[in-house]
Amino acid sequence: MKPDDKSFKHRELFASGVNALRGYGIAGDFYRCPICCSDFDERAIFKGAQDAYCLTLEHAPPESIGGKVVALTCKKCNNDLGSRLDSQVAAREQFFRFVDPNRPDPKPFPGTLTLPQDPEVKTNIRISGKLGSGINLSAGKRHNHPENLSEARNSLEGISLSGGRFHGSLGLPAYDEKCADLGFLKSAFLCLFAKFGYTFALSAVGRFVSNAFLDEENFEVVKLKPFPGYKNNILVSEVSGVCFVGFGEFLVVCPWLNASIEKFSEACKAPDSFLGQYKLIPFDLPFGLEAILDNSLRK
Ligand SMILES: [Zn+2]
Repeated sequence: MKPDDKSFKHRELFASGVNALRGYGIAGDFYRCPICCSDFDERAIFKGAQDAYCLTLEHAPPESIGGKVVALTCKKCNNDLGSRLDSQVAAREQFFRFVDPNRPDPKPFPGTLTLPQDPEVKTNIRISGKLGSGINLSAGKRHNHPENLSEARNSLEGISLSGGRFHGSLGLPAYDEKCADLGFLKSAFLCLFAKFGYTFALSAVGRFVSNAFLDEENFEVVKLKPFPGYKNNILVSEVSGVCFVGFGEFLVVCPWLNASIEKFSEACKAPDSFLGQYKLIPFDLPFGLEAILDNSLRK
């Protein structure tokens, strides 16, 4: 039978996962979703695979903020965590882009406008541009009562006539900080999986991390500001049993393979005190599981 699969990347990742699982004595040609640990055979990468039995490309960080493909996960995990966590990562990034002059411009996004003469009425608007360097507000017919719309439009016209000043308040889309942080933890987990394979994903610490974003355990995501030159890398501190996965703006703290959960929790209280004792492992891989490194990793 000739597999009618989706793409080269699906095939590559599937094959490397199957190979890696064989190293664990798992018979048959299965790929295991690193997040929920369900097993899939190659039908899961065929075109037209049913949603309940389908493997999808996962990006880390999420694709919406420019992440790259690092792993296959099942469609259920991808969809569920995408709508709960990745969407909040994207919403937070959008907010930062709106307020931070050092970031790229945000895409136009929805918001609300409240005018002082009518503080009870919120007009739905589109916001484009960036705070501090000129923003553009427009109110459309959709989602607005015609009466509010004309008042809002009059006020917006007034802004352009009077040199850009306006009195009123803008409502920006809200995001959930905890979910956005868990989204980054998920990205850290996927990068560790891409780099260290099932050695990480199936280990006690790997399951501990994936449970944190699957079951919303009371897991405090710890993140540090990265220092220059250490973006997009994994820093492992074997002494403390923690590793730091860097994504541009954050270093996300994860337990390292040989750590006990207690040791990790202890290390999380003062993570930066371990930054002096790490080894640097670049994770800028093309994509895919690097290896089944059980023995070499645990030496
Ligand atoms: Zn899954």
